[in-house]
Amino acid sequence: MTDMSDELVKFIFDGLPVRGLLVRLGSSWQDVLARRALAGDAFPPEVRALLGEMAAAGVLMQSNIKFNGALVLQMYGDGPVKLAVAEVQPDLAFRVTAKVVGAVPAGARLEALLNVHGQGRCAITLDPKDKLPGQVPYQGVVALHGDQREPLQALAEVLEHYMLQSEQLDTKLILAANDQVAAGLLIQRMPVQGMGNVQGTSGARNEDEIGINEAYNRIAMLAATLTADELLTLTPDTVLRRLFWEEPVRLLTPQDGPHAPHTPRFECSCSRERVGSMLKSLGRDEVDSIITEQGRVEIGCDFCGKKYHFDPVDVGGLFTPVRDQPPGSAVRQ
Ligand SMILES: [Zn+2]
Repeated sequence: MTDMSDELVKFIFDGLPVRGLLVRLGSSWQDVLARRALAGDAFPPEVRALLGEMAAAGVLMQSNIKFNGALVLQMYGDGPVKLAVAEVQPDLAFRVTAKVVGAVPAGARLEALLNVHGQGRCAITLDPKDKLPGQVPYQGVVALHGDQREPLQALAEVLEHYMLQSEQLDTKLILAANDQVAAGLLIQRMPVQGMGNVQGTSGARNEDEIGINEAYNRIAMLAATLTADELLTLTPDTVLRRLFWEEPVRLLTPQDGPHAPHTPRFECSCSRERVGSMLKSLGRDEVDSIITEQGRVEIGCDFCGKKYHFDPVDVGGLFTPVRDQPPGSAVRQ
């Protein structure tokens, strides 16, 4: 029987400038798919696989940076998938959704899903939790093709490109997802430190090291032998033992860091208040016309499938002028 736990393990290779992360989303991923199916709006299998890989990649990337805010991985497409989103919080709570228009060809990969006319893009946004006034989120964008303009078929290749461009670090990424498990393995060359810094040349050294670090290349090649089936069915311990049995791999335990590691989990941040303010932004006339037509307003959350209902009385409350509301809810003029 397949292990359904949600797990993230971090590891290093003793004495080598290489680190890694392995994530396995089991019950949390099934929860995501079950909610969507329950809402009567299940995604086609090809889109489910893409979203699973995005969730796993998002968790890996969020765990790999020191950043207090949401990491949002977005794919903008010109095929049947118009948008696919994975959002991961610093505590590894994640949610995903997609906007699909029209039929998805059976077996479709990135090109057929998102990049039919070469206009597909992948954006990685780091949205700080406590934004300073005027501060805008950091965003990096990459196209869905390789150096020779060849269309890429795998999300992992797109993200490897992104990380090489944005961090100047070699990265090997293996991603896979089915309806039971979404999983990923990330191997990354660590930035040059120590002597490089002493000589004041660490930046230059990092760029110089791209593609030529022997230990990284060897470990990345071993990682590349991991099959989707192995990644999806074996426990993280077994995967690491099988791949790196000749390497000095060492799991980082909670005692190795100041913070206990988080366990990835599904969580949606939608709320009745947020849906209410969205309705307010539509304007009273628009909302009233929905009430006239349908008797009430029903808004479903795209991420978790939860349905929010607003009857005429609720809508009246939404649009009550601020001065008529109880003290404490007033906004500054
Ligand atoms: Zn929700």
